[in-house]
Amino acid sequence: MRFTVASIATLAFPVLLAAQSQPLTPAQQLAHDIYKELIEINTSDSVGNTTTAANAVAKRFRDAGFPESDLFLGGPKPDKYNLVVRYHGSGARKPLMLLAHLDVVAALKTDWSPDLDPFKFIERDGYYYGRGTSDDKAMGSIFIANMLRFKQEKYVPDRDIILALTADEEGGGSNGVRWLLANHKELIDAAYALNEGGGGALRDGKPFINSVGAAEKSRRTSPCRRRIAAATRRFRATTTRSISSRWR
Ligand SMILES: [Zn+2]
Repeated sequence: MRFTVASIATLAFPVLLAAQSQPLTPAQQLAHDIYKELIEINTSDSVGNTTTAANAVAKRFRDAGFPESDLFLGGPKPDKYNLVVRYHGSGARKPLMLLAHLDVVAALKTDWSPDLDPFKFIERDGYYYGRGTSDDKAMGSIFIANMLRFKQEKYVPDRDIILALTADEEGGGSNGVRWLLANHKELIDAAYALNEGGGGALRDGKPFINSVGAAEKSRRTSPCRRRIAAATRRFRATTTRSISSRWR
């Protein structure tokens, strides 16, 4: 998914309000630190790589006590690694996958405002700046922080939770999900996945909307897809009406 610099500037990370008004909780601080670390690793296809980021995150899981057998690092090329981490539940239900991509769209410092650097994490006036702050390193950081917290709090879900951090979602030649499906499907076999494509927003500091993405980057048309599109239009029309009457 591609965002412009302008749209990045208008999208706030959920930790934002807490960061402005009160000290971060330990869990929020952890998410913040992971977020900063990932933003400052250049994972663009042209000059960066996802392996450095995947290794940095894997180290966090090792340090937290995740066994090596629950970590997978690999990819089609040395600079296009994916990371898959499994957190074990009771096994009563089929696993849930948390899916986020590590790579970002290329960014040149010369294209950004003189006082910004796309690979320097900057907090200013209540916003976070840096390539990937909204796409997709915020979501990835939140997933990672939650997985680490599960371990710390000895949480036992009724299913395994799989975290998959992938390479080249933005259009490089090593699409991580496709590679994992072709080479290690057993690692990411899940009942369903939570991925980017939907999104949430706050208005006046309160949850305002949470949308659902039914598919991403597909050009195929089918009766099913047309039905989804029609349902989405109906949902939007209904939601817009109810939101505008509620929030006017
Ligand atoms: Zn994306």
